[in-house]
Amino acid sequence: MGISEDWGELLFSLNCLQKGSAKRQFRHAIRYAWGGFCAYCRDKRATTVDHLKPRCKGGSNLRSNLVPCCVECNHSKGSQDWEPWYKEQEFYSEVAHELITEWIDNKRYTNEREANEDQFDDRTKVCTDTCGIRSGTYEPTCA
Ligand SMILES: [Zn+2]
Repeated sequence: MGISEDWGELLFSLNCLQKGSAKRQFRHAIRYAWGGFCAYCRDKRATTVDHLKPRCKGGSNLRSNLVPCCVECNHSKGSQDWEPWYKEQEFYSEVAHELITEWIDNKRYTNEREANEDQFDDRTKVCTDTCGIRSGTYEPTCA
C-alpha cells in the first residue's frame, strides 16, 4: 500500500459519500453499468474486478479504472493494459470497446446518476444469474 494508492481510495470514497458507503455505491454502479457480466467478454458472470490500467503500471483504484471481470479474462489479461489485450481477443466488439472507453471518461457515471436501478443502458446485457462481485479481488502479479 503506497501513498498514491491510499489517495486514490480516498478520492473514490469522497466521491461516493453522499450516497452511502463507497462499497455499496460501487457495486450498484457495476450492476447498473455492466448488468453483472464481465466487461470484456460480456459472456461470463463477473466475479472479480479488474484494473484497466494495471496498478503496477500506475493504474489507480478509482472507479474509472475498475471494471467487473470474469476469472478467465482476468487471468488472460494479467498485468497488461486493457486496450491492446482486448483488441486481440476473439470476443472483441466495438460496442464493448466503446462502453469501456465511456466508463474511463466517466460518461457512464453521469448517466447513471439520473437513472433508475432497473433501467439499463440498451447496450448493456443483463445477467439473469444471481449476480455478485466477490469482496476479494483477483490481483495479477506483475512480471
Ligand atoms: Zn470475461
